[in-house]
Formats: sequence, structure tokens, C-alpha cells
Amino acid sequence: MKIEELQKDIQAYAKTIGIDKIGFTTADIFTEMKERLRRQQELQYQSGFEKGSIEERTEPQRLLPESKSIISIAVAYPSRMEKTPRGTKGDRRGIFARASWGIDYHVALRERLDKLGEYIKKRVPDAVIKSMVDTGELSDRAVAERAGVGFSGKNTSIITKEYGSFVYLGEMLTNIPFIPDSPIEDGCGDCTICLDACPTGAIVQGGQLNAQRCIAFLTQTKDFLPEEFRTKIGNRLYGCDTCQQVCPWNRGKDSHFHKELEPEPELVKPRLKPMLHLSNREFKEKFGHMSGSWRGKKPIQRNVILALGHYKEVTAVDDLIAIMKNDPRPVIRGSAAWSLGKIGTDVAREALSHALEKEDDEQVQYEMENALFAMTAN
Ligand code: SF4
Repeated sequence: MKIEELQKDIQAYAKTIGIDKIGFTTADIFTEMKERLRRQQELQYQSGFEKGSIEERTEPQRLLPESKSIISIAVAYPSRMEKTPRGTKGDRRGIFARASWGIDYHVALRERLDKLGEYIKKRVPDAVIKSMVDTGELSDRAVAERAGVGFSGKNTSIITKEYGSFVYLGEMLTNIPFIPDSPIEDGCGDCTICLDACPTGAIVQGGQLNAQRCIAFLTQTKDFLPEEFRTKIGNRLYGCDTCQQVCPWNRGKDSHFHKELEPEPELVKPRLKPMLHLSNREFKEKFGHMSGSWRGKKPIQRNVILALGHYKEVTAVDDLIAIMKNDPRPVIRGSAAWSLGKIGTDVAREALSHALEKEDDEQVQYEMENALFAMTAN
């Protein structure tokens, strides 16, 4: 069978199973990326969520020794939702980033890659295949860039001409020597809109991100959020879309092709106060199918607390006091103290003073003292 013919058939089949764009590249080493990753490591710009060594992340044959090529897939997702619920004073809402809308995209892409793999195996019975989505060693973005799915923007997203950067990416290593597609031309030019718009200055320079300052990463950490970022995360509960929202390539891009990727407005923009009291089971039942829940309840609840402080939501004071006094998790007690300091009512001040007398954890004590100090200074 001719490779060209098989490739064309794969492209056509991919469309029928909800893959919006597909590209092919070699399984050669990602040499440039290797250098970039080494620099990122030296500068401590990595998130810590990366899987595998630099070699595994850049040398496809370490993952599948027989690999000759890589298929990159992209699935477009919505950027707008119908009937966005609006938060109001007394009833504030948080927001999950678009990559957490609909069902967990890892599941959605895995299903597509499995179907694609089955199809290829039917056509080429001795095909060897290994698929990955996001959490694999290979960089989805580096593969997509080399396979011509999109160009790599200064905001480090892959930007497709058809769907902007609102695409999920996955890839498949295979021993079939497909004909590689050519990378597409860079489309950023002199633009620096995303660098200027990033709330924390996390995009150090075009294409270089300091993950330790990136709000998308920070919303997923489980520890105390460094103070300089607490007001900057605003009402974000998971992820941050700012550098994508401002990008001119995303203007008017809003793909509603896949039912399972459609957002449930009440879940992706949930009321904040009820989230303070969710049990683990309730959290799992409600949010467990979303990619934004992958780190569990704690980081989301910490962000809920910070968002209430950001809004200076007076009606949350009693709830926050109860949490500050009774929650077993120091991060949650300390974050509640910070928010009470921001809200700054007399009741909050009194509660902070009392709680400080009984608090054993040094970091929480520090948060309480700081909150009291900030209230006095104001
Ligand atoms: Fe490139 Fe401008 Fe988009 Fe940033 S905002 S990714 S610089 S086009």
C-alpha cells in the first residue's frame, strides 16, 4: 500500500471521529527544544508538572524505539458560552479556564486517538503505536508545530489558522514512515500583545514562559499562594486564558463542534460561597469530570477563598471565620485569614485576633498577623 494513500485515508477518517486537524512529522530528535528545556531548567522556569527527563521529552525513540513518525491531532474547543451567569455583590462567582470546559479533554482526545489507532492497525496490522495527551513525555506543542498543525505563538500556545489557539493537542508515535508535513510560518511578527497583557509578567520574552509566575500554573498548586499573586488571580479557580483572549489570531474563533466539550455554565462559572463547604465526595461528583479538578479540591477551595477576598465579599465573612477556625488544612485557614484581612470588617478583625491566640501553625499565624496589620494600616 502506498503511504500517500494511507495518509490521505487517515486524514479523511480523522475528520469522521471528531479530529479537526491532523499533521505528520518525523520521529527525529527535537534538538532545538532540548536546548530550550535545558535553559528553562537552569532558570527554574519549569512548572514541575512535566513528565520524564529532557531526553525522554525530546527523543521520540526513547519512548518507542521503532518510531519513524508522529501524528499530531488537534480538536477545537469553544471560547464563548451561551448564557454566561453573572456574579453579583453577595453572590460572586469564580471561573474555570476554557481548557476545563466540557469533559476532561484528556478523555476526549484519548478516545479519538484510540479510534485512530484501531483504524491504522486494521490498515497496517504490524503497525506499532503509542499515543499521548498532555501528560505524556513528548511536548504536544513541539510535535504540533513541527507537524504543521499551527505555529508556536509568543504566548507559547500553538496557534492554528482555522481555530486560533483554542485547540487541544495529542499525538501518536508510530513505526509507519509517513510523509512529514511542513511547519507553518510564524504569525506573531512584531506583536507583543500577550506579553503586555499577562497579569504577572510570566511571558519573559516571546516563546519563553516562567511557569512559576504563570497564573494557570499557580491556580493548580496546593500550597500557600505567594502573596504577590493573590490579588492577581482574581476570581480564577483554575487556569488563566488572558494570553489567549488577547491574541488577534483568536478574534472570532469559537468552535462548537463537539457536544462533550460544551461548557455547563453553572459548573465553569460556579457560585463561590457554596464551594467553601463541599465535601470531597460532593466535589468529585460535581467537578470530577472536568480537567480542572485533577489536583483535587484543595487548590480550588483555596482559590475560592482568595477570590472572595479579592471581591471583598462581606457576606462571606462568617463562612471564612468558620473555616479559619476549624479547617484542618493550614493553607485553607491561612488563606481565609488573608481574605478576612482584605474584607476588613470589625467582625473579621475580632475573629482574626481571637483565632491568632489559638493558632499553632507558624505560617497561619504569620498570615493572621499580616491580615491584622493590613487592616490597621488601612
Ligand atoms: Fe503572537 Fe500577538 Fe498572539 Fe502573542 S498576542 S501569541 S505575540 S499574535
